[in-house]
Amino acid sequence: MFDINIRLISMLGLLTIIVLAGLILDYRNVATKPIRTGMWLAVLGITAGIFLTLSAVLPENEFFGRVFSQVRTTQKVVALTFDDGPYPPYTEQVLDVLKEFHVPATFFVIGENVKKHPELVSRIASEGHQLGNHTYHHIDLLKADRKVIVDEIDSTNQAIIAAVGTAPHLVRPPHGFRDPVVLEVMAERSLKVVEWSVMSRDWTNPGVEVIVDRTVSKVKNGSIILLHDGDGIASQASRAQTVEATRRIIQTLLAQGYKFVTVDEILTKMEDSKG
Ligand SMILES: [Zn+2]
Repeated sequence: MFDINIRLISMLGLLTIIVLAGLILDYRNVATKPIRTGMWLAVLGITAGIFLTLSAVLPENEFFGRVFSQVRTTQKVVALTFDDGPYPPYTEQVLDVLKEFHVPATFFVIGENVKKHPELVSRIASEGHQLGNHTYHHIDLLKADRKVIVDEIDSTNQAIIAAVGTAPHLVRPPHGFRDPVVLEVMAERSLKVVEWSVMSRDWTNPGVEVIVDRTVSKVKNGSIILLHDGDGIASQASRAQTVEATRRIIQTLLAQGYKFVTVDEILTKMEDSKG
């Protein structure tokens, strides 16, 4: 049977050939009438390449398929999400802050880190937070073949099941990167693909103030906020800034009347027809 895998990389490869062919045609003055067909072919190829790349990497883009980056709602609800953990001591510190303010969050965990710290994953779940799959080795899924993508997702689900007894139904691809095959693998497993609408680049440790300002200034009803309690599979960088920023973000948004919910809950607030 014909099994066509639509990958970003193969599409970009094909477009590169089209661009090169266009440039050669233009250079050799083939097909110059009525317009410079070769040059326009090259321009078209480059434009299509940029469009497809943006479709794979922009969190809110839905050209390749449905993803959830925010929810259109009139209710003052936001969802905090933490990626790349579990990672001691920062995951515990984030959990302590969330507990202090009675705020639920969603943790997109890395399988390898789950395997190392199952007790932390179990604490996340027992304190009422939601878990999502963030792949086993935090790899760029655009560069992985279907079998590797399947392994990354399934082994992480198994690690989560081993830690808490249930499989997650949310996934966030590393960096948010996806293409048709990535989305197909997720759909086959009934995993909803969750991106984000508010990002502070907290993983670069730009300072607590910066993380708080970048986050709070962009938040609106239905925002999904991206933060990091972990540091990939390297688990080297400090997440102390994120811990402190989390506290201040929660304080500020609570004072503005926002309610914090899990990703599952925020998706139920969706007021458009696509929900
Ligand atoms: Zn990540």
